[in-house]
Amino acid sequence: MSRLFTGGKLVVASHNAGKVREIRELLEPFSADVISAGDLGLPEPDETGTTFRENAELKARAAATAANLPALADDSGFAVDALGGAPGLYSARWAGPSKDFNAAMKRVETELAGKSDRCGHFICALSLAWPDGHCETFEGAVHGQVTFPGRGTKGFGYDPIFIADGFDITFAEMEPAAKHAISHRAIAFNQLVAACFKK
Ligand code: IMP
Repeated sequence: MSRLFTGGKLVVASHNAGKVREIRELLEPFSADVISAGDLGLPEPDETGTTFRENAELKARAAATAANLPALADDSGFAVDALGGAPGLYSARWAGPSKDFNAAMKRVETELAGKSDRCGHFICALSLAWPDGHCETFEGAVHGQVTFPGRGTKGFGYDPIFIADGFDITFAEMEPAAKHAISHRAIAFNQLVAACFKK
């Protein structure tokens, strides 16, 4: 039996504005007063885990302890089959300190040159932690194809170069609501709300 979030303040343990916006939108139907770790000035812990799950848990636990409030963290990334799952855990780091995702997408394109397999997926681990250290974690993935050149301006990160299976437009060309209906984050999120939130 999972622990329930009983309402009130909830820290979103991310300094990534794109992610905070998506999580805020996903949480709209629930009685959560969302504040971001950035707004609280919380430090960003080093992502020393070896899996998305470990990184989500360490970020959620660090924020819950620092803010003395329940905290939700997402660790996610983009994995390309022909690159052995890269950038994977290094998805944010491929964009460098200036968070240049055009450069990161260019690197994916360069490393895929001459390879015919274009399969890839986004992965998301979501952890909800409480100040006493209790933590609930859920995972989701969405599979599709990598495409170049990138298209669309609506999403963030690697969205312009990803087409989910069953679609012909990239994540960055989809309306936010359409992406939320099928994304890796939405899949993990649906499991989280089913287990830990009441409408
Ligand atoms: P994290 O903050 O360490 O979890 O970094 C995850 C990185 O994966 C992000 O900075 C993005 O580059 C990428 N990523 C995760 N989810 C998405 C998504 O929904 N669209 C595009 N890129 C994503």
